[in-house]
Amino acid sequence: MIVARGVAELRRARAEIEGESVAFVPTMGFLHAGHLSLVRAAVDRADHVIVSIFVNPLQFGSGEDLARYPRDEESDIEKLRAEGVHTAFLPTVPALYPPGFATRVQVRGPLAERLCGAARPGHFDGVATVVTRLLGLVRPRIAVFGEKDYQQLLIVRRLSEDLSLGVEIVGAPIVREPDGLAMSSRNRYLSESERADALALQRALRSGREAIERGGRSAATAVENMSRVLSEPATVKSDYVELLHEPDLTPFDDDPIRGRVLLAVAAHVGETRLIDNCVVNIPPDGGQ
Ligand code: AMP
Repeated sequence: MIVARGVAELRRARAEIEGESVAFVPTMGFLHAGHLSLVRAAVDRADHVIVSIFVNPLQFGSGEDLARYPRDEESDIEKLRAEGVHTAFLPTVPALYPPGFATRVQVRGPLAERLCGAARPGHFDGVATVVTRLLGLVRPRIAVFGEKDYQQLLIVRRLSEDLSLGVEIVGAPIVREPDGLAMSSRNRYLSESERADALALQRALRSGREAIERGGRSAATAVENMSRVLSEPATVKSDYVELLHEPDLTPFDDDPIRGRVLLAVAAHVGETRLIDNCVVNIPPDGGQ
């Protein structure tokens, strides 16, 4: 496996596999089984896989956890080697954003307005900018993103299509701990009691799913129930609870809950911000 830290090294590694199919998995490192499931999906779909590890300062707001974001480069590199990755790309900040770098990519409209778009202003501009830069450097045929960050997946799919990047964006299912907590590099911040309280995100999604599958509930009632379940533990402060049309992320307002529905939650558990979601498909007759 080639470990590239600069753009020139990445270009040399990429040149070795010119003409063959390349799949790309961007990450911020501190790799867990969720990331590795993306790498495996990539391995299954292409001749070669390139994985990036880059904690992107552009997507962190002031007061967020950029400085303390967990890192373990050595162990990450070993995990990627074991998966048969062709190149691990671990650029420095000036390698990706050299002096004079002045471009920002912004996806507008309903896809970016709600959920983390509203809760973390500027976050998706940072994501869209780094992903566009990385896709330009890596030139993959496909790129794999986790459904864990569902809104991010939809935004990246939109930008790839809008900018004719020619990259197929593949979504991979959420990988969870045995008790249901979605795997996240940020889970390592949680104390033992916070770790237990974090299961409220999963419980809130389950209660929302059950309510809308039973039918006869408005989106507002389902959201109210979910918010109550989410905020039960004292350490959990809800950030958002939403129920939106998937894939366009428009609200239900007074519409009957039908079709594909994204249930999304975000909360601070102590100091740690966690997100989770699920997609439910309600048949046209509401399953009645
Ligand atoms: P991150 O390192 O958190 O930026 O995540 C890198 C990629 O891994 C993103 O596409 C995430 O959606 C994906 N990912 C993170 N956690 C999970 C998980 N538990 N299951 C599936 N994909 C995940």
